[in-house]
Amino acid sequence: MAAEFSRRTEGLLNQAHEICQQRGVTLTELRRRILGLILDTAVPIGAYELLDQLREERRGAAPPTVYRTLDFLLEQGLIHKLERLSAFVGCVAGCTIGSAADGHEHAAQFMICRICGRVIEMQNHDVSAALAKAALRSGFVIKIVTVEAEGLCKMCLPTGKRSAVAYKKGHPRPRRK
Ligand SMILES: [Zn+2]
Ligand SMILES: [Zn+2]
Repeated sequence: MAAEFSRRTEGLLNQAHEICQQRGVTLTELRRRILGLILDTAVPIGAYELLDQLREERRGAAPPTVYRTLDFLLEQGLIHKLERLSAFVGCVAGCTIGSAADGHEHAAQFMICRICGRVIEMQNHDVSAALAKAALRSGFVIKIVTVEAEGLCKMCLPTGKRSAVAYKKGHPRPRRK
């Protein structure tokens, strides 16, 4: 029998279900299950890892089924793919009714922690706007922007080497007493 998800994940799944309904698409049982597995992990999860977890619950879960499901979830903006890790993360905004990320693909920036692997999603429209403006100067029209930055999260920062985050320019210096 399938393990239960956390309450947070269940809450997001219920909203994702409703969001899909409003768009005239269906969050089938399998789609819900895979979305739940992705939302429930703190770190990005790869397609084969998902497949392994599914196989524990149901026999015959095949890679094409998982890939098709992932495509659907990506299309609906419920998850994102991190290209450099070839792994998936849930989009909390995409699974939240009435959030600013009103569905489908949205511009996002990801901060990937090198130590704990946690991923923080940001939706900074200034970043997308600056890129779009720069691209237009070369006659290029950007359709979707995904920015992936690597560094250390604030929990890992004290254990990591500070020099590793030399590129955190523009961020306010942390105040310590
Ligand atoms: Zn997102
Ligand atoms: Zn970290």
